[in-house]
Amino acid sequence: MVGFNSVPKSQTFILIMRLVIIGLSPILYSVSGLWPHSYDLLTIIIFSFITMVLTICHFKHLYLKPVHWGIVHIVDLIAISLMVLGRNGIHSESFNLYYLVVLQAGLVFGVRQALVCLLFGNIFYAGAVMLTSPVDADIKRLIVRIIYSWLVGITGAYLSYLEKTHQKQSIMDCLTSTYNRSFLDQSLRHEFKRAANRKTNLSVIMIDIDNFKVVNDMYGHKEGDLVLEQVARIIQSNIRDVDFVARYGGEEFFVTLPGIGIDKALEVAERIRNAVEDSPFNRHNTTQEIPVTVSCGVASYPFQAENLDELMKRADDYLYEAKRAGRNRVHYKAG
Ligand code: GH3
Ligand code: MG
Ligand code: MG
Repeated sequence: MVGFNSVPKSQTFILIMRLVIIGLSPILYSVSGLWPHSYDLLTIIIFSFITMVLTICHFKHLYLKPVHWGIVHIVDLIAISLMVLGRNGIHSESFNLYYLVVLQAGLVFGVRQALVCLLFGNIFYAGAVMLTSPVDADIKRLIVRIIYSWLVGITGAYLSYLEKTHQKQSIMDCLTSTYNRSFLDQSLRHEFKRAANRKTNLSVIMIDIDNFKVVNDMYGHKEGDLVLEQVARIIQSNIRDVDFVARYGGEEFFVTLPGIGIDKALEVAERIRNAVEDSPFNRHNTTQEIPVTVSCGVASYPFQAENLDELMKRADDYLYEAKRAGRNRVHYKAG
């Protein structure tokens, strides 16, 4: 439904941290005089290669899906286990990379999946340690590290949960569960640019509930809110997944239809208008019906407008005309 990609800030943060670690590694090794063993080097090379791929994807705006991040984690874990297997790695400095991978899993996948990743990571890592150094002291160290890894992983998962919740709240209208105005402005600009570049259509519908003030005055604001929610649901159920609806103002909604020309857009607007007119809006917990209708203004790029401001103005003008012509109708400019 969302018309454009947005990369979570946590994923950008992960990439920056990986780059910082790679940049700092040679400096830290040379300052401390602890030269890396060849297995540590191999781990760092694999880690750097994956980071390079992630950087290229980032700059090419190829945002990774969970399955891609899954592959990244498996390769990271294999690199770390190689180090453990090759050189009793529980004593290796590169071991700390494991915490980054665990944090990364928490941030990318969210709570449930992160815990599964942690469990598999722990089994992977514990197996490698048991194979190479099953001595008492190392087993105790292993247990401490596994406990730490859970603390770090759970922190990442919780931060990711907070970020996702915040992201959702910042783009949604809480009453109608449609997108809010700021999301609309952002996504509409993106869709317009895309339509202009690809020379495809972009249509918009401005929808306004008729005489809504009367609904509020006669039945109260609470009933008015329920009407708004129901109209939003009706609009949502009459558009495709790639289209999106936003609450434009008090009782106004704005529908964006990427790739759709004027004829199809008119059909959609008429379908919505009809569905609202035919739906029973019952007063809360009663059978008393509240009469509800909507008026729509439809405009289409490049048919009726050369730029985004013009497209929005046309939709607004046609909505105004629909109101003047008597409401409960769809207006547009033919020819
Ligand atoms: P028209 O057909 O010309 O659009 O008439 P209208 O009465 O719908 O338009 P008007 O602009 O006069 O009134 C809009 C009303 O919408 C006034 C305002 O109280 C109400 N409204 C705006 N936001 C909300 C909301 O979130 N909840 C409720 N219940 N009412 C709202
Ligand atoms: Mg209005
Ligand atoms: Mg109105």
